[in-house]
Amino acid sequence: MTEQIGVAVLGATGSIGSSTLDVLRLHQGRFKIVSLTGWRRIDPLRQLSNEFTPALIAAEPEHVPDLGSNPLDGREGGCYLGGEDGLVAAATHPEVDTVVAGVSGAAGLRSTLAAVQAGKRVLIANKEPFVMCGELLRNAASESGACLMPIDSEHNAIFQCLPLEAQRDVTSGRGIGRTSEGAGVSRIALTASGGPFLRAPAAAIARATPAEALAHPIWNMGRKISVDSATLMNKGLELIEACNLFGLQESQIDIIIHPQSVLHSLVYFDDGSLIGQMGNPDMRIPISHGLAYPKRAASGIAGINLSEVGQLNFEPPDIERFPSLALAREAAKAGRSTPIALNAANEVAVDAFLGGLITFGEIPGVVARVLERHEPSEITDLAHVVEIDLEVRSLANDMMRRGSPS
Ligand code: NAD
Ligand code: MG
Repeated sequence: MTEQIGVAVLGATGSIGSSTLDVLRLHQGRFKIVSLTGWRRIDPLRQLSNEFTPALIAAEPEHVPDLGSNPLDGREGGCYLGGEDGLVAAATHPEVDTVVAGVSGAAGLRSTLAAVQAGKRVLIANKEPFVMCGELLRNAASESGACLMPIDSEHNAIFQCLPLEAQRDVTSGRGIGRTSEGAGVSRIALTASGGPFLRAPAAAIARATPAEALAHPIWNMGRKISVDSATLMNKGLELIEACNLFGLQESQIDIIIHPQSVLHSLVYFDDGSLIGQMGNPDMRIPISHGLAYPKRAASGIAGINLSEVGQLNFEPPDIERFPSLALAREAAKAGRSTPIALNAANEVAVDAFLGGLITFGEIPGVVARVLERHEPSEITDLAHVVEIDLEVRSLANDMMRRGSPS
């Protein structure tokens, strides 16, 4: 019998976590869940703990006692841990081979970096760490021998379209921009569904409620990424994620609105060829690809029926109604610490919107004003990244407290 592959699912109680566990349930003999993390959703975490009996569970420190007094059914070595240290321990556990990074936002930064430094295979759904300091993560992968597997659907699509050697350059942290000689990649295009406000007039977008912003027409996702998909900041973050994961320039990346969301992204080659990856819009497909690579395994999702899809439409994004996309491009061009500022300001603004403190239309204004005030610096190490992230959060909160965010 081949040895089981040990898996850590970070953010197991979220949307990516649930999709990952669905795929893992299909392949129980092949994978063993070693660690699971949640945060505040303790009931589902307890249920998962009963189902998978992992060696380690991590949650927000104050909720750890709620997990119960009998850690992991008395399993030897089983333990509950709290906070970021718990996440790092889950990611770096010696029995773990594959880490699914499914925490939402910058909260996943330390555990993602720890997994990369520990030389794990890291399935990257949690895009924010790669937006903040992708080069740091890529360099860490080159040093440790970690394997970086993009599973954000667009980045996974790009990855699937690359020649094998270029795929190796991506997984080993070298990127394809400078090193994959002969790969012949000239540009890439990331597709976007357009979100819930694709056809909405600017005035209606400005006063959209959280319920409207969270009602994504295609994908069922966590709250933060759903709001980002409504502003199109998600596509902006994905643009920076793609620059940082693949080592490409911002100018080599197009964004195309494709409302049917069955063509997940495209690679343009020097000879004029264009290769894309298609599939039903369901995260279990890229997750399954990341888990099984370089082989293929069932994801539980059927292939698309093209006759039912009927037509594929493409159009450019409307920057006037969705200014977040332009802000992300500016941040990608400015580089250095600017993407950290963009991401932190956006996280704070999205929280404030969901908490009823600012309107939907004010979100890009908060980000724009933070970027105007931010003095970019060269990123040196994790401590520096965290310092900038915290500074920007405090600046964005101050600005909102003082009013007139836009
Ligand atoms: P989610 O909100 O559904 O789940 C987030 C998970 O992170 C939960 O398990 C939660 O308990 C945990 N968490 C929240 N705050 C935490 C904290 N401070 N510390 C530790 N853990 C914390 O989010 P999601 O939709 O699953 O997205 C997760 C990540 O994957 C995001 O970065 C998102 O951009 C990316 N992503 C998601 C999808 C999708 O379809 N959901 C697709 C592509 C990429
Ligand atoms: Mg995506």
